[in-house]
Amino acid sequence: MMNAAEPRRPRADRLSGVRGMNDVLPADEALWRRLEEAVADTMRAYGYRQIRTPIVEPTGLFVRGIGEVTDIVEKEMYSFVDALNGEHLSLRPENTAGVVRAVIEHNLLYDGPQRLWYAGPMFRHERPQRGRYRQFHQVGAEALGFAGPDADAEVILLCQRLWDELGITGVRLEINSLGQLPERRAHREALIAWFEAHREQLDADALRRLHSNPLRILDTKNPAMQELVENAPQLSGFLGEASRAHFTRLQELLHSQNLPFRINPRLVRGLDYYNLSVFEWVADIDGTALTICGGGRYDPLIGMLGGKDAPACGFALGVERVLGLLRAGEPDAASGAQCDVYIVHHGDATLEAAFGVAERLRSAGLDVVLHCGGGSFKSQFRRADASGARFAVIIGVDELARGEVSVKWLRADREPTQTDGTAGAGAAVTATRQESVALAAIVDRLFDAIGEND
Ligand code: ATP
Ligand code: MG
Repeated sequence: MMNAAEPRRPRADRLSGVRGMNDVLPADEALWRRLEEAVADTMRAYGYRQIRTPIVEPTGLFVRGIGEVTDIVEKEMYSFVDALNGEHLSLRPENTAGVVRAVIEHNLLYDGPQRLWYAGPMFRHERPQRGRYRQFHQVGAEALGFAGPDADAEVILLCQRLWDELGITGVRLEINSLGQLPERRAHREALIAWFEAHREQLDADALRRLHSNPLRILDTKNPAMQELVENAPQLSGFLGEASRAHFTRLQELLHSQNLPFRINPRLVRGLDYYNLSVFEWVADIDGTALTICGGGRYDPLIGMLGGKDAPACGFALGVERVLGLLRAGEPDAASGAQCDVYIVHHGDATLEAAFGVAERLRSAGLDVVLHCGGGSFKSQFRRADASGARFAVIIGVDELARGEVSVKWLRADREPTQTDGTAGAGAAVTATRQESVALAAIVDRLFDAIGEND
């Protein structure tokens, strides 16, 4: 019994993470890694090379590159003044502007067109809710220096291959064409005239955007404005010959690869710099349609950010939303820790031998957990079972004196009748097979044992 008179140190307040910013715990790691590996493989298969840009950029990059009258720049950016030197900086809300900045800065287009991809955290001060976070992750690809609809088709096919690779079904492709600036201007005038004529039906957001960004009004989620928006003049009526040809060719190419899509004339995308092709991949998550990936052509951006004019297109997908789909498809996808060997040891000088065995096994390529913290063999075996290891190596004083250790088969699911070997650590441990092995032969013996079941 503790002395009751002993003063207790008060427990410190518990700190929490920032709202809307999540920890990815080890149980989810297998799922993340699967996505990351599928992404890296798919990007490589299309000749895209990875680029890593900083998480912080000058605020001006996003103001210019995304547009002042956008949700992102108006109210979602984590912007601050660097107290040490007065620079205006922002956590990146997306990565296209950063990639383009880097491409210009390092003159990458001098060597010809570039196929690039990235992955990493993005930051937007949005209201946190399901599928919407303040730190979230995107994977994206950018094809820079390509003008034709072939590049548009390529990035779309790349997405489809990624869904296939991940075993995701039921994502729908929607496409549209935003045309070119003069066409959008003509459409914009017509839109403003239309909304002016129905001013009394506009909500506050729409009134504010009427002259700054009327296209965004089409994106409204306000149910009261749906009919007005549906009957508004459509951009497709304002597209010229070249824009129509680009859009038609993209559709032909998608058809040629048997990729189904729907033309959605209301698809405008949130960012200002898009032109010609835009697309979104939409999935139903718990009955609501959610965009998991969006992209398109952004020919003006490189020039807008001070580079020599060059066409470009790309996309960004929301990692958390794709993981949500993966989880929905396989509720058991998350997995606990797994290793090949757990080493238990008890008695004088066994720890040194245990370290030695562990290092030899690791050098041979096995994943090894060495029991730390001592305790009885019984308590160590409980940890060994929980580790998911296939084998325990047991090091005791008497055996060690004879130059031997023991191998114990931990998992009943490794019986020869089972061939797929995928059963988890939760399987009942009924196997009791155990044998002595010469210390010098432990690596070979374990490899033989692994081979027995593979
Ligand atoms: P939305 O209309 O849902 O706000 P967006 O147009 O802002 O989407 P993009 O900037 O095109 O989204 O980003 C591409 C993808 O990144 C989205 O389709 C979505 O899957 C994901 N995404 C965007 N914002 C968030 C967020 N706050 N949390 C999680 N994922 C996000
Ligand atoms: Mg948004």
